[in-house]
Amino acid sequence: MIKNSFGIYQHAKRLWVIRINCDLCGKVGERLFKAIIEGVELNVCSGCSKFGKVIGHVKKPVQKETRKVIAVPKEEKVELLIENYAEIIKKKRESMGLTQKDFANRINEKEATIHKLETGAFTPPISLARKLEKTLGIKLVEEHEESHSSAKERKIEGFTLGDFIKIKK
Ligand SMILES: [Zn+2]
Repeated sequence: MIKNSFGIYQHAKRLWVIRINCDLCGKVGERLFKAIIEGVELNVCSGCSKFGKVIGHVKKPVQKETRKVIAVPKEEKVELLIENYAEIIKKKRESMGLTQKDFANRINEKEATIHKLETGAFTPPISLARKLEKTLGIKLVEEHEESHSSAKERKIEGFTLGDFIKIKK
């Protein structure tokens, strides 16, 4: 039977087996210290550590963190407007014998919008492009499968240090 001057050592030691708390006062501490108190190594709270010599920290039992893994699709569909949409819209409208005004009325848009579309001054949102596709029977939107590989992104961004040096020359 070990009993130190605090008279609670045995009891505290038993408790510690179940849960990590101070060997002296029994308090569950955020941080416990390894300390030599009266020649005995104890795990104590910061308050009780003052009674002896602190020799280190007590590691808390490690809890396994459950990580949430967010699934990122490897491929993503991207809708892109074809480059020569202006030309295609104009040609098709003319082949249908419609003026810009006629066509505007037909799709419920302003004449100015059609003018801007056909001069390339206005890039239609995909929703409008889809409407134009239906009305004119043409293809304006292309679906691309975009992969998330970083190598591809780097290619799009373009510049490598090598390129920079080449340009400087
Ligand atoms: Zn304590």
